[in-house]
This record gives sequence, C-alpha cells and structure tokens, in this order.
Amino acid sequence: MSYITGPEYVRYACTCGLLKSLPNLYFCRHCSQLRCGFCVCPEVDSIFCGKCSENIPSAEAKVKKNKCANCLICPSCQQDLSTRIASKGVVNPDDSKSPAKKTYYLSCYFCGWNSRDVGIPDQTSPTGGWPERENVHSNRLQELLDSYKQIMLSQKQQKENDKKKKFGKFVSYTDRTGITASALRKRIGIPDIPHAMLRKPKLPESSTATTEVEELPDKFFTQEIDLLEVTTIEQRLLQPESQPVTVDKLFPAHKQLSIKKSLRCRHCERNVSKPEYNPNSIKFKIQLFAYYHIPEVRLVKVGDLKRGQPCEIIIKFTNPTQHQTTITILNLDLAEQERYVEEQQMMDISENLEVLSLQFKQPTSLPSLPGSQPSSLLSLPPRQPHLTIKSRKIKQTVNSTVEIPQSVFILPPRDDAAEYDDSNDTHNIEDDSNLVIWRKSNKVCIKLLVNIHEGETIGEEVFCGFTMDHVYTNIIAANFENKQPQKLNHKVRIFLNLGKM
Ligand SMILES: [Zn+2]
Ligand SMILES: [Zn+2]
Ligand SMILES: [Zn+2]
Ligand SMILES: [Zn+2]
Repeated sequence: MSYITGPEYVRYACTCGLLKSLPNLYFCRHCSQLRCGFCVCPEVDSIFCGKCSENIPSAEAKVKKNKCANCLICPSCQQDLSTRIASKGVVNPDDSKSPAKKTYYLSCYFCGWNSRDVGIPDQTSPTGGWPERENVHSNRLQELLDSYKQIMLSQKQQKENDKKKKFGKFVSYTDRTGITASALRKRIGIPDIPHAMLRKPKLPESSTATTEVEELPDKFFTQEIDLLEVTTIEQRLLQPESQPVTVDKLFPAHKQLSIKKSLRCRHCERNVSKPEYNPNSIKFKIQLFAYYHIPEVRLVKVGDLKRGQPCEIIIKFTNPTQHQTTITILNLDLAEQERYVEEQQMMDISENLEVLSLQFKQPTSLPSLPGSQPSSLLSLPPRQPHLTIKSRKIKQTVNSTVEIPQSVFILPPRDDAAEYDDSNDTHNIEDDSNLVIWRKSNKVCIKLLVNIHEGETIGEEVFCGFTMDHVYTNIIAANFENKQPQKLNHKVRIFLNLGKM
C-alpha cells in the first residue's frame, strides 16, 4: 500500500537492509535483486533547457554557468518570461497605409511584472538582444579565479616533480649530461625564464576591514517602510552579484538548465533507469522499477489486535508481470539476514587483509629496468572503484508472528483487458480455501493469522513480517542468447505495520 504522505504500512527490505515502500525501489534484472536509492548510482544523462527544450552539451553548459542563453525568467516570481508585442506609431509616418511599427517587451503572465517597469528599453526583434547587466565585481572575481587556478597548477606541477624523483622513470637528456635546463638556456643565449607553471603564484590583493561605512539615508528613520517595494530573500539570491534591495532594480535572470539523470546498479554497473534523450519526452529507455517486477502487497483488512488471541489479517497480492508466478509465504527469519551480513563483513575484512599482505610481501624498491613499470605495481590486483553498498542488519523489530500457511498460491499474469471483464474467471485454479479467500485476474486476497508476542502493552504499534518467495521470470537472458526465459525464485522480506493494539 502506498500513500502520497503518511505512514507506509507495507515495506520491503532492500538487499542492503533498508526498508522502503515498493514505489521507492528498483529491481536490477541482471543481479535479480532489489535496489533502493542508496544501492544505485545517479549520473547526469543530459542537460537541457526546460523552456526552449534544447539539449546542451555539458562543456557548453559549464561555460554558460548552467544557464540558458536565450530564456529569461521573471526576477519577481521566478517563472518563465514571455515576449509581448506592442505597436508604436507606424514604420513610415508619411504613408497612410504603412504597417504599425512593432516593439517587443518582456512580461510575466504569473505576477504581471514586465521589463518596462524597471526601465528596460523595448527591443525591435522578438528573439532578444536584451541588455545584460554588468557585474560590478567581475574584475575582482576574475582576479581571484586566476590566482586560484595558478595555485592549483603549481601544486600539480610540484606533485608531478615529486613523483618523477620517486620513480626516476623519466630521465631527461639534460639531467643525464649534468646540464640543467637553465644552464642550457644560458649557453644557447635564451633568457632564463622559469616555466609559467613554476612561477610563484601571485596572490590577489586581500580584502581589508574598515570601520567607515556609509550613513543610512534619512528616509529610513522618517518614512514608514513599504514592504511591497523591498525585495524578498529569494529575489535577492536569484541575482547574487547585485542583490537588489528594492523591486525597481530587479533584472530578468537567465533560466537555470535542467538535467535528466540515469541510475546505475552499484553492483553490476548496469542501468536500472535511463530516460530518453529528447527533452520533450517523459518516457524512459530503461525503467526497472520494482513496481513492474515484484508482486505488490496491500493490507486490506486488519482484525482486532488483542494479545493472547490470533488476529486475522487480509492482504492482497497483485502480479504486475506478464508471467504467471507462484507465491510461497515463508518465515521472516531475521537471524539468517544477520548471519548473511556478518559473513559479508568477514569476507570484506579478509579481502582487505589479502590486499594488504600482498603489498607487504613485495619489496618497495625492486631494481627496475629504465622505462618499465616497477614490478611491485604490476603484481597488485587492479584497483576497482569501490562503489558497492555494504549490507546491514535490518533494524525493524517485529512484535508479532505470522502463522505460516502450508500451501502456496498462484498469481496469474497481468491482463489489461481483464479490468473490463465482469465474468468471474478464476483461471480454473484450485486454491486452498483456508488461505485464498478471493481472486480476480492477477489479484489474490489471502487470510493470515498473526499472534502478538507476550509482554506488549496496549497502544503499542504492531509490526509483523514474512518472507515472500515468488517465481521471477527473467527475460533478459532469453533476449540475449535466444534461450527460454529463465525462472528463478526471488525472496523478499516484507514488513507490515498493523496499527495500534
Ligand atoms: Zn538498498
Ligand atoms: Zn532556453
Ligand atoms: Zn513573475
Ligand atoms: Zn545489478
């Protein structure tokens, strides 16, 4: 069950041990595992302008400071500005049939702000040439940027020099003959200038504190303030370089670019979500949401939650896939998950120890041939970026036990046409009447009994859980190798919040 807000009554345990509702999970078809937002790695897929729908390469976006060069937004309410036409006299006043002269100005349809209010002159072409306001601090900013760039370069150069000294890999001609580059320059007759990157970075002039500040104008003390004329924080932060105090100094700003992001499984590094490149499309090329692969569980009815007597709950299962599946309800078995997490941690530790001991065994200064890699580096296993998320123990405790039914039940495939079919087609499936109480197309309602643990007090929230084992049909192998779809048993731990006792 999923709500827009409010508590999540049914939560699924991700492979990493976090509990999430089904719409917040992905399903990697290559690993056949659930992945939550932490188990996937987001990437910027494309950058585009949301108004003119133009795709912009990332290098160009960087130069343009992630703003669209053509689209402007309202400085007052931050919505898109539209160009409006105004007629001003005629093109040729002597000719009575002369067409009206058109001028263009910017206007906001949401708040009514327009470029004439702040004195921006009307333009003769609709596509722009709108005046840009000069940043008064641009020189100072450029100076700072340049000097930081220089510091960065000189540090990089220093590091590279240190590295060269360490490995002695690149022996230059001048070093071998004992002539330094500087001496060589002098001999040839070129003035000795240190390398541009090696020059000491020139630090920018530092700012100085001052006690002399301008006096406030008299009107601040004598006149009542009109809040409609003062800009809001959002309006000021939209223009950080000028930060206008009054609304008559607002200036249209360029529209911020948007991104489309794709998500990658951190385990197998394949995409679980990839949008289409076209900015106008809201479709996906790859869209592996768990909602389309894992049966959905909903709480339908919860009986009286009383200690000492079994409580009856009715839950509904929906099969979202095109393949029939069989569902088995199993014990939650949190101890097994804890064992698994501990095993994983032990494996990680032993792996790290192995790498460390390998580094330790290799002498650091092996005689190496000039121009060849130091052998200690070659023998090390290739370094892989460690992106995988470590599993953790499930924190949710349960204070009730589900009586595990002895029989299994079948969920027929999804059939969109069945939604309009009123005949009670049960697919001729023979069900255990003690378990299945209702079935229609790809949906089944089952009855479970829950026993609340001893020692729980009235008013406490009751949590129960079970493991759902379902047959998952993986068509990905079939697509690649022209094989039969692969069927595998996938287990998910599901936690239910039954409400207060
Ligand atoms: Zn996860
Ligand atoms: Zn644009
Ligand atoms: Zn506006
Ligand atoms: Zn994967």
